[in-house]
This record gives sequence, C-alpha cells and structure tokens, in this order.
Amino acid sequence: MRVLGALLCALLGLFAGGVPDNSPSAAAAPSEVYFPVTGHHVGEPFLSAWRARGGIPIIGYPLSEPIERDGMTVQYFERARFEWHPESAGSIWEVQGTLLGRWIAGGKTDPAFAPIPEGQTPPTNADNWFFPETRHNLSHGFKDYWEANGGLAGFGYPISEEFTEDGRTVQYFERARFEWHPENAGTPYVVLLGRLGADRAAADGVDTSPVTRRAGVPDYDPSLFSRSLSLPVLMYHRFGDPADRYQVPYWAFAQQLDWLLANGYTTVTLGQVYDYLAGYGTLPAKPVVLTFDDGFSSQWAAAAMLDERGMKGVFFITTGQPRMEDWQIKALSDQGHEIGAHTISHTVLTYLSDDRLWAELSVPKAHLEAVTGRPVEFLAYTYGEYDGRVIATTQAAGYRGAVAAWGGKEWTPEKWWFEPRIEISGYLSLGEFAAYVR
Ligand SMILES: [Zn+2]
Repeated sequence: MRVLGALLCALLGLFAGGVPDNSPSAAAAPSEVYFPVTGHHVGEPFLSAWRARGGIPIIGYPLSEPIERDGMTVQYFERARFEWHPESAGSIWEVQGTLLGRWIAGGKTDPAFAPIPEGQTPPTNADNWFFPETRHNLSHGFKDYWEANGGLAGFGYPISEEFTEDGRTVQYFERARFEWHPENAGTPYVVLLGRLGADRAAADGVDTSPVTRRAGVPDYDPSLFSRSLSLPVLMYHRFGDPADRYQVPYWAFAQQLDWLLANGYTTVTLGQVYDYLAGYGTLPAKPVVLTFDDGFSSQWAAAAMLDERGMKGVFFITTGQPRMEDWQIKALSDQGHEIGAHTISHTVLTYLSDDRLWAELSVPKAHLEAVTGRPVEFLAYTYGEYDGRVIATTQAAGYRGAVAAWGGKEWTPEKWWFEPRIEISGYLSLGEFAAYVR
C-alpha cells in the first residue's frame, strides 16, 4: 500500500513546532520553562519539539539540562533523548530523537527481531500494517497507539514483531519500546512506553540531580502556550445570478470584499495560518481566509475581483470535475492564491473503501502539484464529512492539514485535521455577512 511511503512526510509535518516571538496573542509564551518534579529546565529549541511530540505522557519529564554528548547538544527525558542539529535550524530535523529503541535492542537475539524474509509480504489492512522498510508488522492495539501518539516521527519504524518479554507483550521501535497492559484496557495506559531515556541517561553516566530554577523561568503549564485564534474562514461555491445557497451574486461578493477591507481585515493563506498554529510566524491583526470549493468556473471572475483588491483566496479544486482549466488553476497559483484539493469525484469520503479513499485524496494532490508546480498542502473534506480513518488517510497522503465545512471561528491546534469554516450563502445580507465575520 502506497500509504506507507508517504507516512514520514505526513507525520513529520505534524510536529513542526516553535513559539511565536512577536505575535500579539502568544507574546506571553515562554521560551524556557522549569519542571519542579525533576528539577530541570527545558528551553528552545527542545521545548517546542517536546510539546509537539507529546509532552509529559509521551516524552516524559526532563532528567537533565542540555549537555554535550556524542559531539552534540542533547537533553535526556524519561522516554527520549533529544539531539540538537543546528545545521537543520528552522526545519523539523532541528531536533531529532536518538534511536533509543535500536540502542536498547542492540544485541537482543529474540527471533522477533528477525525481519520477515524477502518474498513474504504480510497484508496491509485496517488491522495490520507491514513496513517494507524494516520488514516488520504493526498490528491492532499497538498500531492504534502508534498512529494516535506520534507515529513515525515519534516512535519510528517497528524493528521487531510483537513478542513476550518478562511476561509482557512488547514490541520494539526505532525510538521506543511498547508494553501492552491489558489491565488498563479502555484507558490511555493500555500501552506503556519504556523509560528508554532514563535507561540511556544511566548508561551514559549523566547527572540527573535537580538544579535550581533560573531566575524568571516559570513552571511548565500547558496554558502558557495557547495558540488558538478566532479566525473567520469563509466558504464560497458559485458566483452569479440568481442568489441561492451556493451562489453569491458578483455585486454582493464585491460588497463583502469591500466591507472586509474597510473594516481592517487582511486575507491570509492557510499556509500562514497553520504556520501560526504550529508556533511559527505572525498573522495580521484581523486575518480572514476566503476559500472557494469545487473549482467552479465562475470562481475565475471572483479571483479577478480579489486580484483587483490585492486579496488572496484558497481554491479547493475537485479534479475529476473539470470546471476551471488547468491553465487557470496554474494562473491562480502564480498570482499568489493557494490551491488545495477537494477530491476527484466529490463523493462522501467516509463511505469509501480504503483503496478508493486513498485515490480520492492522493491523486488530486499529485495532479494539482503537477499543474501548479507548488506543494498542495491542504484538503477540504467534501460535504465536510470526515472520521478517524479519513483523517489518518489524509495524513498519510501527505497533506499538512484539513478543513471541515462548518464549526464557527475558533481555530486551535487540536482541530488541525478538521478546522472550522463558515458557509457564505448567496442569501446573506451585508449585515448578516458582517455578523458572521466579526
Ligand atoms: Zn464541495
């Protein structure tokens, strides 16, 4: 299944982290915090990576300050060791987790570590993934946990099959050891992670004794880092007369655009907004996103109205229903508008077979990237319908984020794969439009 090849990029995309340094709503977010439980500080760039990769439940508390080891700056946590790679500054590779699963598995001879022989190809389906990269399987409960808590970026590929060790069902990954605890079924603790960072700290002879808090460094508290924002993301379909739910007259659209400008709004792209949610960059004081679904041909003239006003839009194209031509889509992209995907056939994604779902999400992305010569990072779910499987496939297909078709204006990192939009019907008066935006 081609899903697996795309997993790395997709999953790593989730973990781009960082703290905005000069955006109004995040001005209070600290670049260093202190953990009284273990008596250690965590600062940038490790702090953003720690938060993005699961924080206390997944990475655990810091066990050391940043120190020099193996020719680089590292910091030990309960279940990971972070390495600083300044040559990759600004990218997701700047902070990398040491491959502690490989380290702890070194020398283990259980047959479960033997790769599945070439020539045998176990199935990849909803209950089992076979990774040709390491020739191991990932199944059922361990697979669910792996997917939900960090995937490839967090844990790496499986480097063993499931097997019994010290009376427990376990599986080893490049960066982790999973332990199955059936007594915790139905809780987040049905899988417990080995304390590989602590093991490594002991093996490396690292001093883990507490240090005194530096002056002015606050205790860690998740509420210090809220990056939510109130953001009107408006959803349009067709333009022209007569007005209907999915058709806005051009004159009404012109009024709306002029109202936005007169009231101090600035159009931004989803790329800018997701950067902001991830902790990078800044947004103007009153951002608004204008999205256009399905690629209707009447959107071409609407785009010209944006261009006249120096505004940007996001066009979610349904590639199997050609309305705008490829040259038009390329021109929109060249003009600075953002091109997103909206499936091939505009069907309800939640009802599709795995194979069909994969095609509906991956084919338009590749096609639109070929047309525009630019990455296509965002998906709009058809009819706003999604579920866990659709989200997982969207991630695997390499998207950076996705939007629904309703839900108001509160954008938060927790809604990364189903951020809300506001439908703009052709029936709205300008006053009603203003009320939706404000
Ligand atoms: Zn649509």
